Amino acid sequence: MNPRTGTEPTRRQLLMRIGVAAGSAAMYQAMTRLGHAAGTDFAGSPSLSGARPGTTVLVLGAGLAGMLAAYELRRAGYGVRVLEYQSRSGGRNFSLRGGDTLTELGGATQHVKFAAGNYINPGPWRIPYHHQGLLHYCKLFGVQLEPFIEVNHNALLHSSVAFGGQPQRYREVQADFTGYTAELLAKAINQNKLDQPIGDDEKHDLLAAMRGWGLLGRDYGYRSGNLASLHRGFARDQGGGPDGAPVPAALFGRAELMKSGLWEWLSFNMSYDFQTTMFQPVGGMDMIGKGFAKQVNDLVTHNVKVTRIAQDGNGVTVTYEDNSHGGAVTEAKADWCVCTIPLSVLSQIDVQAGGPMKAAIQAVPYASSVKIGLEFKRRFWEQDEQIYGGISFTDQPISQISYPSTSYFADTPAVLLGGYMFGAAAYAFAGMTPEQRVEEALRQGSVLHRQYRQEFSNGVGVAWSRMPWTLGCCATWSEETRKAHYAALTAIDGRLVLAGEHASYVGCWQEGAILSSVSAITRLHQRAVGAA
Ligand SMILES: Cc1cc2nc3c(=O)[nH]c(=O)nc-3n(C[C@H](O)[C@H](O)[C@H](O)COP(=O)(O)OP(=O)(O)OC[C@H]3O[C@@H](n4cnc5c(N)ncnc54)[C@H](O)[C@@H]3O)c2cc1C
Repeated sequence: MNPRTGTEPTRRQLLMRIGVAAGSAAMYQAMTRLGHAAGTDFAGSPSLSGARPGTTVLVLGAGLAGMLAAYELRRAGYGVRVLEYQSRSGGRNFSLRGGDTLTELGGATQHVKFAAGNYINPGPWRIPYHHQGLLHYCKLFGVQLEPFIEVNHNALLHSSVAFGGQPQRYREVQADFTGYTAELLAKAINQNKLDQPIGDDEKHDLLAAMRGWGLLGRDYGYRSGNLASLHRGFARDQGGGPDGAPVPAALFGRAELMKSGLWEWLSFNMSYDFQTTMFQPVGGMDMIGKGFAKQVNDLVTHNVKVTRIAQDGNGVTVTYEDNSHGGAVTEAKADWCVCTIPLSVLSQIDVQAGGPMKAAIQAVPYASSVKIGLEFKRRFWEQDEQIYGGISFTDQPISQISYPSTSYFADTPAVLLGGYMFGAAAYAFAGMTPEQRVEEALRQGSVLHRQYRQEFSNGVGVAWSRMPWTLGCCATWSEETRKAHYAALTAIDGRLVLAGEHASYVGCWQEGAILSSVSAITRLHQRAVGAA
């Protein structure tokens, strides 16, 4: 009973309290089971029938949003041309391999030296199972997918200020955190110490759940032994023969564990976006960009920089610099325009649109991010530590180390993600030379893996704020900017419509590019045939 309102707690209120007691991850898990989280709204390829013959569309940008628009509009009967700044299609969807070069703003050029077959995905690297739009087109375009390992119970969690700075195993932290919180909650229930009463049935169920969830004894205590080892693992594993008896591991001290903050990372993969099953394309994320490009590359003019978008009642005129022809200023005309240029760049281009759309283009800042790819001579994380894929987390600026989810057990050099930075850390790394980024990632990563220095071969550091064609990682909408500007950004303005991850609620995911594109071209088609 709530003493202030005199009412019984609702199930949701009860769950909130479990969340406070057991950590936000437990609450999120419970809430998603009750169906509070929602998926994306992809409902199949758009059906665009009845296009007027001879109608033309200019698509600006050959990332996934632009290429999807080109593919579906051509299929619907439109005459399509795509203008793309870079010499390749794919946009933020790209991978780096040995032999590639990358030049960033400021002029630094990196020559990637990875061994044959190895790659790093500097941008997108994983796909949630519920991103059904992207998965649909991967299937349609023959892009083969394999599992991406998000969570690895044998990976490491590291805090510089806990456990003497020594990294700990995910499974050990998870088992003890769960065990101790279950024990505390069971104790509170048994002593009627919850601030609200719950019915006998619910009490009984909750106690049973805590006992199973936390591997508690009959007395609801969590302690070292074979039972706890079922979750956290043993000090000496089970073996065969007379000496095969396992030795249970000692537990972390409860206070030290709670103070460590390592439990924060346990809830990461509980969030809807990172739940199993996640996927990656076989052979690198750019297999998706290449799969899309196979469908539409004949429509794309590369190496052209759009500098102006003008329109009147009859159509659009796009001005661009043709960098394949010495930067010659050229015009392209069409009846309609789908623009997928990131807002960070578009906000610096002369766009003839109404006030609300222009204000929206200026309103959305872009986040920064840096990713580091490190190649090592051998897979020491597998060979020495039995870590197969997944992510180790650290409170150092590199924030995480992600091990490859493919080619396990190979006796060849391998590439891991040696750092993935956002916010201040991303700007700090972007301010370094590429060589300094790699060196810093090695220094910090050595705290988790002593083999780093000895096994290191070469590396690459990609700073998204220094990519001239996107000037950042992704659009960052706040609730306020979305309220003020999202409707204007996504509305058709005369003969112009915008698409791209920035024009979706699935920001910073490829699914956002797909869904925004499907929405934009569906509405544009309706307008073009006079139905809207
Ligand atoms: C670090 C990072 C991690 C990410 N992780 C994931 C992930 O794990 N999974 C996932 O699904 N998504 C992820 N994303 C998001 C995903 O990459 C994007 O949402 C998606 O690729 C955006 O596609 P788009 O078509 O909207 O834009 P883009 O791919 O940026 O396409 C826009 C195109 O416009 C071109 N262009 C720019 N300026 C001009 C100009 N003046 N003239 C002509 N052309 C121009 C660009 O060259 C580019 O090709 C990540 C992104 C980053 C940066």
